[in-house]
Amino acid sequence: MLILLLVLVFLVSAYAGKLRRAKREGDAAGNGTRQETGQGGRETRQEGYEAETGQIPGQTSAREQAQEQTSTQEQTQTQTQEQAQEQAQEQAQEQAQEQAQTQTKGTIVLDAGHGGIDPGVSGSSGVAERELNLAIAEKLEALLCAEGYRVVQTRSTEAGLYDEGQTHKKAQDMQRRCAIIEKEQPLVTISIHQNSYPDSAVSGPQVFYYANSAQGERLASCIQSCMNRGLAVEDPKPHKGNESYYILKRSAGTAVIVECGFLTNPEEEAKLQDDAYQDQVAATIRDGILEYFGETPSEST
Ligand SMILES: [Zn+2]
Repeated sequence: MLILLLVLVFLVSAYAGKLRRAKREGDAAGNGTRQETGQGGRETRQEGYEAETGQIPGQTSAREQAQEQTSTQEQTQTQTQEQAQEQAQEQAQEQAQEQAQTQTKGTIVLDAGHGGIDPGVSGSSGVAERELNLAIAEKLEALLCAEGYRVVQTRSTEAGLYDEGQTHKKAQDMQRRCAIIEKEQPLVTISIHQNSYPDSAVSGPQVFYYANSAQGERLASCIQSCMNRGLAVEDPKPHKGNESYYILKRSAGTAVIVECGFLTNPEEEAKLQDDAYQDQVAATIRDGILEYFGETPSEST
């Protein structure tokens, strides 16, 4: 009996020990699982964080700043492009307006008299009228262009408007001048000449118009008075009607002949060759033309 009890006690204690070992192993195994899970969880959260933002926290603001800067640069570039486009549009509009104004002011034909084999009159110094006519016509062209007119010259060189092989050079020259006026249909035609007279004491400008033209008479009156006043002419002449001058008779529209002065007067001949006096002559003719159109010069000369 005692032996049986001892065996029983041994078995029970042996079983109990087994249970305790089993329990310890179980605890140990449980702790390990929690640690692994915990680490894995942290790793997962980190991975998840990176996946959501695509950035690590410390770099986020720098990238955003870079993006913002890029965005600002793009906006600035866009604004600059828009400003440039607006400026270009404004410039184009201004140019169009200027062109429109120039077009609306219209064409003036300037006719430098004579040329080529036809020298016109000449003075005691030997200067030929054709040279002075062209010099003053070119100065007048510049002044009228500055006022917004389109200017067409019948000649721009010392040559005449005739063909070299032509028998009737003077007739062809005059016909071609009238053909230019006919083609251009100008507001007015101003033919520039120098005068001559047997009495060398005679001087001063004189403007001729076609006797039957009221507009021609008015244009001549405006130019005559501006020249008399502007050039301080001592013995002023009146503007004068004429029925025989070819350019007045045959040209379409309103035309006048401006005889700037007398090459047969030595004093006036000298002045007419002076560059500054030529400027004054051109300016006073311009003033007369502008007065005829009801305008005043944009710059005083
Ligand atoms: Zn002449």
